[in-house]
Amino acid sequence: MTTDIIIIGGGAAGLLSAVYLKKQNPRLQIRVLEGLPRVGKKLLLTGNGRCNISNKNITLSRYHGADVSFAEYALNKYDLKFTADFFESIGVPFTFEGDKAFPASLQAGSVVDCLRFAAEENGVLIHTDTKVTNIQILKDKYRVWADKVSFVSDAVIVATGLYSGGYKCGSDGSMFELLKKAGFKTVDTTPAIVQLKTENDITKQLKGIKVDANVTLKSGEKLIRQDFGEVLFCDYGLSGPPVMQISREVPRNKNSMTLSLDIMPEISLEDLKVKIKSRAKNLSQRPLEEFFTGMLQKRIGQVILKQCGLKLSEKSEVLNDGKIESIAKMIKSFDFKVLDTTGFINSQVTAGGISTDEFESTTMESKEYKSFYAVGEILDIDGDCGGFNLQWAWSSAFCACDNVLRNK
Ligand SMILES: Cc1cc2nc3c(=O)[nH]c(=O)nc-3n(C[C@H](O)[C@H](O)[C@H](O)COP(=O)(O)OP(=O)(O)OC[C@H]3O[C@@H](n4cnc5c(N)ncnc54)[C@H](O)[C@@H]3O)c2cc1C
Repeated sequence: MTTDIIIIGGGAAGLLSAVYLKKQNPRLQIRVLEGLPRVGKKLLLTGNGRCNISNKNITLSRYHGADVSFAEYALNKYDLKFTADFFESIGVPFTFEGDKAFPASLQAGSVVDCLRFAAEENGVLIHTDTKVTNIQILKDKYRVWADKVSFVSDAVIVATGLYSGGYKCGSDGSMFELLKKAGFKTVDTTPAIVQLKTENDITKQLKGIKVDANVTLKSGEKLIRQDFGEVLFCDYGLSGPPVMQISREVPRNKNSMTLSLDIMPEISLEDLKVKIKSRAKNLSQRPLEEFFTGMLQKRIGQVILKQCGLKLSEKSEVLNDGKIESIAKMIKSFDFKVLDTTGFINSQVTAGGISTDEFESTTMESKEYKSFYAVGEILDIDGDCGGFNLQWAWSSAFCACDNVLRNK
């Protein structure tokens, strides 16, 4: 079976590539080979089922990789407007919550459906349950093997993602391993946008409680990364957007790491001490159990007091200057020893991947193999939480497709 273009992977980048190529040039024959029984499984899970499809603030500073400048051309050329126009054309207008873009339906399923409908309407051939296991280089063509079936094509676009989300999303890294074996340079892969396992005696006690905090990741005294937002205490450690945002740094820093929560970032340590002192004076007869009621999340207040060696049954009059200092310091720096991430299966994206050195940044074409492209998460580019990863999938796919079209 000969085809103009084979797209390996029917996820975000693969589906968009197929539809875009067919819309631009209906004469092209395009096959999508997808390992799972259905396409777009990971897309269905995105944005908690709402699909945070892009962001108004797509800048390189929100992306990471050994050579992040590789992403600049595609992200600039195939920007939010270009992407929104494409999705509008297949029936998915965007809506915004702050900077974050979503499908107007707020349903990830509708994004997959419209990509599927557009693929069918435009005559894309989709083969599900077709996991690619090998690629052979022929003279000017490629033979792509899926078990015992093979397809010959002029061009190949690899859009298989990596490990994030785990097997249920088809993310087994099989194509990454295959390309690595074939000699493609790689960058070590680690989970990113993922919850963190910490020493959990305290987080267990506070399980289910959410608090807004300034979150700082430190290696010894060295500040690694900081973010602000809602933190969730869990039995295994900590979660919530700011924790997930800084999580990519954890596996990359081998030294012991601490996650420090400032749960009253709006006030300085000195002012906080004054505030607690005056509160202790006003509420001197109130039991410590209720001392922070009204000022802090009650359970967090109680845990902090206990950590500072106080008995909750005592009256607030026991708070002397030394105790007030320790309490204020803990509120400003509630520290948790980081043990690990919760792994690829829970991560939203994989950091690392096939080295971008192997590809042209303006076309996504392999420097060594003509008409061989890689797009999306399999490349060593990952974005922050907030629609940045899907935008990379879209932008890199548009970029590769335009080169395929130029060469046809
Ligand atoms: C729970 C979750 C929530 C997320 N939420 C968001 C969000 O709201 N916004 C955002 O920007 N990003 C989000 N992401 C990240 C985003 O989904 C990915 O970055 C994006 O899907 C990557 O696109 P891709 O096309 O490269 O890979 P994928 O979308 O993973 O698609 C790859 C496809 O290739 C198939 N495949 C793999 N190997 C083979 C093979 N050997 N042969 C054939 N087929 C194969 C897979 O089955 C899969 O269908 C989220 C991720 C997860 C896991």
